[in-house]
Amino acid sequence: MDHGTSLLLGLEGVEVVGVSVGGPDGRTRVVDVGTCDPAASCCPGCGVRSTSVKERVVCTPRDIGYGDAPIMVRWNKIRWRCVNSECARGSFTEAIGQVPRRRRTTTRLRETIGRAIGDAARSVAEVAAGHGVSWHTAHGAFVDIAATALTDPAPTSVLGIDETRRGKPRWVRGGDGRWVRIDPWDTGFVDLAGDQGLLGQVTGRTSAVVIDWLAAQPAPFRDAIEYVAIDPAASYAAAVAVGQVPDSGVTGLWSFVGGQAGSSINGSVLTSVCESVSVVMVSRHRLRTSRPR
Ligand SMILES: [Zn+2]
Repeated sequence: MDHGTSLLLGLEGVEVVGVSVGGPDGRTRVVDVGTCDPAASCCPGCGVRSTSVKERVVCTPRDIGYGDAPIMVRWNKIRWRCVNSECARGSFTEAIGQVPRRRRTTTRLRETIGRAIGDAARSVAEVAAGHGVSWHTAHGAFVDIAATALTDPAPTSVLGIDETRRGKPRWVRGGDGRWVRIDPWDTGFVDLAGDQGLLGQVTGRTSAVVIDWLAAQPAPFRDAIEYVAIDPAASYAAAVAVGQVPDSGVTGLWSFVGGQAGSSINGSVLTSVCESVSVVMVSRHRLRTSRPR
């Protein structure tokens, strides 16, 4: 087929071998493609290029739209036999960067979905419906994009911990038939001394989730914390005051020094950013020299 058609599709790693109109609704443009990436015939187990065709298979990875009518990419790909007698892998199916193994969506579609949710702040459900994928697929694409964009938080001297309700309480029936009340809460960690804003957010509001989050941070981050501001939740107090984190170095770093709503640390940091603060905590090793004023 004319090379221009492949250029028009622009899906790296494949070339267009035919276009027809049909599909389940009679108006879908079906684009048949074949592999043109030489690396696709290299065994993922040993790297040796194969020339022994085992069978041909067809898959239809969902791709970005083009024009008004639906479009279906039909990839005719090859299952190769590994020709390396020392390789444990008997056979493998072609994969390319735009359609990795076990993916049913193209990489560029997942990136488009992820950016629509993350950059344009559109809902997962709306973007999923617009691209004809499931909610979980769209959410997974967003998580992948977010993982590449997010960086580890920089150390802060004042860490804020607070709870955020995530949806209304509801009752769901468990696998044993019993009704269980779900009351979803998240815990957010914020930088109260700098301008990083939200440092992290985890599901739940227990001591364990706070301890786990702290334990997951690098030691320099934990060492830099001079003050912790929390709301009155006893679980948070327990986590930061007496929390024991095996093998992490987090062992009761902070102690209560009192404090009420509007308490100030280092001038006006907390009074200006955290009206709900009712407990202010300070790291134990700095108690002698850095009490809140
Ligand atoms: Zn191999």
